[in-house]
Amino acid sequence: MAGVLDTFRLDGRTALVTGGNRGLGAAFVVALAQAGAKVALVARDAKRNADVVAEAAAQGHDVLAIDGDITSDADIGRAVATTVAELGGLDIMVNNAGTCIHNPSWEVTDDEWDSVLNLNVRALWKCSRAAGKHMAEHGGGAIVNIGSISAMIVNRPQWQPAYNASKAAVHQLTKSLAAEWAPLGIRVNAVAPGYVKTEMAPVDRPEFRRHWIEDVPQLRAADPAEIAPSVVFLASDAASFMTGSVLVIDGGYTLY
Ligand code: NDP
Repeated sequence: MAGVLDTFRLDGRTALVTGGNRGLGAAFVVALAQAGAKVALVARDAKRNADVVAEAAAQGHDVLAIDGDITSDADIGRAVATTVAELGGLDIMVNNAGTCIHNPSWEVTDDEWDSVLNLNVRALWKCSRAAGKHMAEHGGGAIVNIGSISAMIVNRPQWQPAYNASKAAVHQLTKSLAAEWAPLGIRVNAVAPGYVKTEMAPVDRPEFRRHWIEDVPQLRAADPAEIAPSVVFLASDAASFMTGSVLVIDGGYTLY
């Protein structure tokens, strides 16, 4: 019988991470590889994609970079097909790519609204279906969606209505697909991070300190590497009886 730490291992599994070339996604790529998975990433910036491949190689991990835009259905199909062809399958899908626009509701343009919902919800939906179809035909798999505390609270001081709505949709889509696909052996879970220091969340800017840092019981933002272990957990057999869950990782932000 496997020891408890062995159940977190991902040896022999293959994973695809959207938006894996910086921030949280790059941390997920490295963590999944360290856990034993063969990992592919898909993102638009070829130079940054190559940088992550080089960083992973320096740690002894062979990561596959796919240059692509997941708001394109053709690129999603290509990313899944390339992962399956090059890595030998697709057992783990991490839907991480996302975008956020700060703007009060009266000033949000239709283009801004569409760009946030297109990437955060529609692309995640299409990636889930493309990966889920492969998993359904090959005995199952695990999907990990990157949601947000913004699905549960309204962030301050900036207004970001499209982002908040998009992440609420991610959490509910996680539950919906989890219920529908459980009989197929596919688990679908999400993590809901609080503030994490990335290009999306400039946590060191003074105008954000009052709410983004001082409102957090732990009085700091996270490093991307602090979210990655939960993604490995949800992708692994350690979470074999978990599906439809949203794991909050926020330094206590949502406690108040
Ligand atoms: P970043 O802005 O740092 O990174 C976003 C990633 O998504 C990049 O790799 C980018 O690569 C990729 N991406 C953007 N658009 C596309 C596209 N059309 N096709 C493919 N890839 C794309 O964000 P974070 O790392 O901060 O966020 C990652 C996820 O975590 C997001 O879903 C975000 O909402 C969520 N999150 C972040 C929090 C935070 O505080 N940082 C808190 C809670 C949730 P490229 O531009 O090269 O395509």
